Amino acid sequence: MKSKRFLTLLALATLSASAAPRWARGDGQRLQLAQMQRNEVAKEAIPPGASARSQDASASEDGKTISGGANKARLTGVRFLSSKTYTRVMMDLTQEARFETHRLKEDPAKGLPPRIYIDIIGARLAIDSKEAIPVQDGLLRQVRVGQFSLDVVRVVLDMTSLRSHNTFFLPDPYRLVIDIQGQETADRSAAVERNKTPTPPVIKGPKPAALGIRKIVLDPGHGGKDPGAIGAGGIAEKDIVLSVAQKLARKLAKEMGIEVVLTRKNDSFVRLEDRTAIANAEDADLFLSLHMNASTSGDAKGLETYYLDNTSDEASIRLAARENGTSRKNISDLQFILSDMTQNMKLEDSISLAHRLHGSLVDSMSKKLGAVKDLGVKKALFYVLVGARMPSVLVEMFFITNKIEGQAMSRETYQNAIVEALYDGIQKYGESALAAKTL
Ligand SMILES: [Zn+2]
Repeated sequence: MKSKRFLTLLALATLSASAAPRWARGDGQRLQLAQMQRNEVAKEAIPPGASARSQDASASEDGKTISGGANKARLTGVRFLSSKTYTRVMMDLTQEARFETHRLKEDPAKGLPPRIYIDIIGARLAIDSKEAIPVQDGLLRQVRVGQFSLDVVRVVLDMTSLRSHNTFFLPDPYRLVIDIQGQETADRSAAVERNKTPTPPVIKGPKPAALGIRKIVLDPGHGGKDPGAIGAGGIAEKDIVLSVAQKLARKLAKEMGIEVVLTRKNDSFVRLEDRTAIANAEDADLFLSLHMNASTSGDAKGLETYYLDNTSDEASIRLAARENGTSRKNISDLQFILSDMTQNMKLEDSISLAHRLHGSLVDSMSKKLGAVKDLGVKKALFYVLVGARMPSVLVEMFFITNKIEGQAMSRETYQNAIVEALYDGIQKYGESALAAKTL
């Protein structure tokens, strides 16, 4: 039961300032994730208004070509994660394929909602398509999948509103990802008010409103079957980053009153694209992915902080390939694919956040450890940051493969020190962002 496992996993993946599990079904439900596998799918392959784009003047399209193989790609699953104003739909494919995205305006006369459909060309459906998958989360009404023609699989998304969309492809395994932004349905501050925890947290430092940071999604890298890098004595990156993320979450909630959501709060596997989707669906103000570096050289050491952008730096490309679980070549291909779309929606803010965090880490850890090697703020193409709608960074907190750094990071005192440093960096970023707004 893959879908059940996945739901459970995400149900566990939230740590909030309040103890209430906000992923639970019921009126408190804000995010919904589902997965279509075999035996689940769509009623009609072709939506009435979407049979051909030439028949609808309102249709707009975009498409990307990725060289196809000799054999047909098969669509093996459709997953989605959505909130009231955002949805990410992920289509699992057995190999690369060409695709086109078409957008159809609402047609009240025909009773048709705004729709987006994605044609995957040279593809076969490998899941049953009998019934539409109802979602009804406020933005995404339902998902329909069908074999449109011998050669084309069509995925139709019936929406309630449609503001913007962005489609991209990630390899290893191949998945086509579409991010859709709907119209804002309600005043955000009103929504925040409604979701407020009944017992106010103890706030020692500045209030979140004073920093303009209401909610942060923390992403402890790897987990479950993916241990990340392994260090001396068998310590795993996934365990250290989880521990640091949990400590940081508690501190941010307790001392700044910030709502914190973890992409995983135990040793479970979460796909990279789902982590970003959680940050977007949660409408977080910041997204921080926490990792530890690795090298074949035991001498490699230091701190480096990344934001999302194309790079020609070989070491950064290799690091991104490792963190993405893919090859160096695939990173190059993705750089090409992303080059004509918004790569980092909050580039300036992400750079600023990266510098504040990194500066705080280097300063603070140097005081505690003595000389810390400053590897700098860098850019690279990390899948986990692609499509993030808020300032987002990935921190490489020392080298797990360095005996001194790896052992230090597995100790409680050292983890607490790095949590302090990250906390200060977030606070400094919040203050600087706020100051910039008043200029
Ligand atoms: Zn990592």
